[in-house]
Amino acid sequence: MKRFQIFCDFDGTLAENDVGQQFFLTFSDPAVSEAAVRAWMRGEISSAEMYRRELAVTRARPEQIRQFALHQRLSPGAETFIRRCQQAGDEVFIVSDGFAVYIRAILEKFGLQTLPLFANDLEFNPAGALQPVFPYLEHSCGRCANCKGYHVRRLRKSGWLQVYIGDGYSDRCAVSEVDIVFAKRDLAKYCDEKGIAYHAFENFEDVQNILEKIRRTG
Ligand SMILES: [Mg+2]
Ligand SMILES: [Zn+2]
Repeated sequence: MKRFQIFCDFDGTLAENDVGQQFFLTFSDPAVSEAAVRAWMRGEISSAEMYRRELAVTRARPEQIRQFALHQRLSPGAETFIRRCQQAGDEVFIVSDGFAVYIRAILEKFGLQTLPLFANDLEFNPAGALQPVFPYLEHSCGRCANCKGYHVRRLRKSGWLQVYIGDGYSDRCAVSEVDIVFAKRDLAKYCDEKGIAYHAFENFEDVQNILEKIRRTG
């Protein structure tokens, strides 16, 4: 039986919504935020610079962020999928170029707080201003603040199949590193452009069915 090392994106993948985007639309200046995101998508600035611009005009206290997080949902089938993978002996990692402060609160809400999480984080000052913390920036490709390709490479173990599940531009550096890709939205478009093979998926039931087939047959 094959064992999988599964790397899962958070915003728009494990979480139903792009929580990071909603975070900035809620607590930042939407015009500044949208301009920064567009500059990042055009490749003009790194995601670290995008976040610095957005956070300069963001005001939020920890309790407000916790309340915001409590309203978020996971994608259909996500919890069942993760528990099945863990029962099967697979490893599951959450990798995000977003911020651990809201991801942790949401994982906790669904009882998934023990999942290993690699993400950026935020520090609060008493006036409500937010400072980004980029623990993995030194390993970045120059485009990501938290480059997912780095985590895939550093955690690789011989004999395990590496799987990536994602939906967006921040997943680009991971998909060329793994054995099996599940992609939707912008990530699927990117894989099409680059000729990277992937399984299209809508929800985690799809992912689970395909992975179980691979586990049994190869
Ligand atoms: Mg995403
Ligand atoms: Zn990268």
